[in-house]
Amino acid sequence: MGIVLEAKGLTKEFKGFVAVNNVDLAVEEGSIHALIGPNGAGKTTCFNLLTKFLQPTSGTITYRGRDITRMKPAGIARLGLVRSFQISAVFPDLSVLQNVRVALQRKRGESYDFWRSEKILTRFDDEARAHVEEVGLTEFIDHRAGELSYGRKRALEIAATLALEPDMLLLDEPMAGMAQADVERITALIRRVAKNRTILMVEHNLSVVADLSDRITVLARGEILAEGDYATVSKAPAVIDAYIGA
Ligand code: ADP
Repeated sequence: MGIVLEAKGLTKEFKGFVAVNNVDLAVEEGSIHALIGPNGAGKTTCFNLLTKFLQPTSGTITYRGRDITRMKPAGIARLGLVRSFQISAVFPDLSVLQNVRVALQRKRGESYDFWRSEKILTRFDDEARAHVEEVGLTEFIDHRAGELSYGRKRALEIAATLALEPDMLLLDEPMAGMAQADVERITALIRRVAKNRTILMVEHNLSVVADLSDRITVLARGEILAEGDYATVSKAPAVIDAYIGA
C-alpha cells in the first residue's frame, strides 16, 4: 500500500490571510481518509486545493507520483482523481439511468444532446446499469431524478461520478443536510465504493467519520493539529480543545 495523493507544504493565502498553512498530507492507497476541523479551519480551502479548484500559493501536490500542482480539475479527473458532486447537476427531468448515461457520454468527451434518439443514448446501457446497481438504485432506475429523496439523489450523483471511472474519490461533505436513514444508506454506499478505490472526504458528522475512516487529519487555523485513527485523534488534548469540545 503506497501513497496515492500527497501534498507537501501546501499553503494558500487570500490577500495576506493564510487559510492553509504548510500542510503535509499523505493519503494511502485503498484507505478512507477524512479531513475534519472546526469552522474556518481551512478544510474547504484544502479540499479545493487538492481537487484543483484553487491554485496553492506554495507547495506541491502529487498523484501517483505525478506532479499535479498546476493541473486543472478536468485534467486530474482523466488521471482518475475525481471530485464527487463536481457534477452536482443531476438532470431532474431525466431518469436515473439516463442521468448515468449522460455522465458516461461526458466521460467520452461527447456533449449531451437532449434531442438525441434513445437509440444513441442506449449505447451505454449496460455500463450505466452497473453503476446504478453499485449505488443501490436499481429499484429506481426509471424514476425521474427530480422525484428521488435527497439521499438517493446523492447516491445518483455518486453513480454519475463512478461513470468517470475514478481510482480516487474526493467527497465534499457527503452527509451534509441528510436525515439519519440517508446517512446510514450513504455510509454503506461509501464503504462499498471504497472497496476498490481510495477516498478522501471532508465531513462534519463525527460519528460517520469515526465509523468510516482509516485515517483522520484534523485541521485548525489552517494547520494540522493531529493525525491518526479516530481513537488517536479523539484523545489528543489539542483536538478536544479546538474541535470536539470538553
Ligand atoms: P472550513 O472549510 O474549515 O470551514 P475554509 O477553508 O472555508 O474553512 O476557510 C478557512 C479560512 O479562510 C476562513 O477564515 C475563511 O474566511 C478564509 N477564506 C476562505 N476562502 C476565502 C476567500 N476566497 N477569500 C478570503 N478568505 C477566505
